[in-house]
Amino acid sequence: MAQFRTFDALVLRSTALSEFTKHIELEVSGSSRFGFVPGQWLSVKANTPDGEEMTRAYSIASPPSGNGHVAFCLNRVQDGFMSNYLCSLAEGAMVAFQGPFGDFILRPPFRDTVFIATGTGIAPFRSMLHWLLAESDRHQGRQFWLLFGARYEQDIYYREELERLAAEHDNFHFLPTLSRSASDWKGLRGYVQEHLAEIVGIRNDMHAYICGLDKMVKANRELLKSLGWDRTSIRYEKYD
Ligand SMILES: Cc1cc2nc3c(=O)[nH]c(=O)nc-3n(C[C@H](O)[C@H](O)[C@H](O)COP(=O)(O)OP(=O)(O)OC[C@H]3O[C@@H](n4cnc5c(N)ncnc54)[C@H](O)[C@@H]3O)c2cc1C
Repeated sequence: MAQFRTFDALVLRSTALSEFTKHIELEVSGSSRFGFVPGQWLSVKANTPDGEEMTRAYSIASPPSGNGHVAFCLNRVQDGFMSNYLCSLAEGAMVAFQGPFGDFILRPPFRDTVFIATGTGIAPFRSMLHWLLAESDRHQGRQFWLLFGARYEQDIYYREELERLAAEHDNFHFLPTLSRSASDWKGLRGYVQEHLAEIVGIRNDMHAYICGLDKMVKANRELLKSLGWDRTSIRYEKYD
């Protein structure tokens, strides 16, 4: 079996995105030998208090930077070891990982694309969209929609940043939808799959990327297939 190199990374910053969610920025040691493509994930390794080695996958939530910096968007899972371990790390701590892995990546030739995420499923799309929109010869004026589902307004991770990106790029449309919105919320309401048909209309010449928990991924794939989409136009990553 192939042996993968283990990298170490320093926690540069850990900031709360919501009560149970953190944005963590890491600096990979020996970064000249580390590179990744937007959408890929790292396999983080750590030992439990009783000495068992655990590994868990985490999507890279930042675009390639060339300086070995990567970010994670992490949600604490109740009774889970790794998610709570990572969310509790102090700045200056070290993290070990292997990777990058995964083929949930942008496939050229690019088409108009809808990105669908709930919760920390936003992570790979933050990486992809920053990378795509940074240069016009990457996005080629294609239209991109980010349909992001959360419960409450405070759970719209990276909201200001994504709103800014949408204000700066006519071809990027940021559409947060809330399943438990307050009465004064002016945006979309309900689950992501309830808005997908409005976005894609009768088109089936687009791409869709879906990331999050199994139930949400299934609901969106089924809907797109019922609208006549070819399965090869729909790519997805499941977190559970
Ligand atoms: C390719 C890939 C990329 C991923 N990227 C991210 C990411 O960017 N950010 C992130 O926060 N997580 C991500 N995950 C999920 C992550 O790998 C772990 O599964 C999660 O952090 C739970 O690990 P744990 O050790 O804390 O809990 P575990 O001990 O593994 O699980 C505890 C319990 O929670 C359930 N569970 C597992 N995962 C989840 C979940 N995500 N939500 C709710 N319940 C769950 C399990 O079924 C189990 O019952 C990704 C998963 C995959 C496969």
